Amino acid sequence: MTARTPLIAGNWKMHKTVAEAEEFIQALLPRVSTADHADVAICPPFTALTPMVDSTRGSRVQVYAQTMHQAESGAFTGEVSAAMLAELDVHGVILGHSERRELFGETDRALALKVPAALAAGLAPILCVGETEAEREAGDTERKLRHQVQEGLSKVPVERVADVAIAYEPIWAIGTGRVAEPEQAQEAAAFIRALIAGRSPEQSERSRILYGGSVKPENAPELLALPDVDGALVGGASLDPEAFAAIVAAAA
Ligand code: PEP
Repeated sequence: MTARTPLIAGNWKMHKTVAEAEEFIQALLPRVSTADHADVAICPPFTALTPMVDSTRGSRVQVYAQTMHQAESGAFTGEVSAAMLAELDVHGVILGHSERRELFGETDRALALKVPAALAAGLAPILCVGETEAEREAGDTERKLRHQVQEGLSKVPVERVADVAIAYEPIWAIGTGRVAEPEQAQEAAAFIRALIAGRSPEQSERSRILYGGSVKPENAPELLALPDVDGALVGGASLDPEAFAAIVAAAA
């Protein structure tokens, strides 16, 4: 089996001014300086991207944006393109977070364009997928994941599929303190890997599948030990350098 380097990414959402981001990163860097078992990423708001790229230069911490538009340029007030992010030396971008889907109308059709646009600009995408509580209770989890994964990867050249990290984030576990049972996280991650194998068995072995949803230092060891879970997308706990560093350590 291919060894996959875990990715621990902190999604700050709309938190931290530049001054607060600087304070955070100065506290985080010494805590993760020897964490060579994992890729470590922070995903600040747009306003803190350049300061964080500058402050993490030469360290092992990568900087990701939280969203982007699929077009190269145009009349899209408030949006940024993949090239604009790449110009800042940003490493990657979160795409399809459930908050973008629910609150800002991001669709699977747009994501089918965003994922290859990010890759073409040299960015590493994290594509978020996941079911609502009602969908899980109705037995619709696999149908939802199949649709989101297949649409999101539909225009990605097969040889680049493994360059897209997929974050399985059950919506009922995001920001709620309700973490998925390890069996649920493993089952969903294995299902996503099987979907990718439908495109390419070789790529599916290399693809990184993350779990997201109320990951904390206390539950991270169990989740990160699951065979098909290759890291975590962390919201609330990524705002605190000590807690985030503890989750990074748990990936060892
Ligand atoms: C997220 O924002 O992707 C997330 C998983 O948030 P939290 O860890 O706070 O549930």
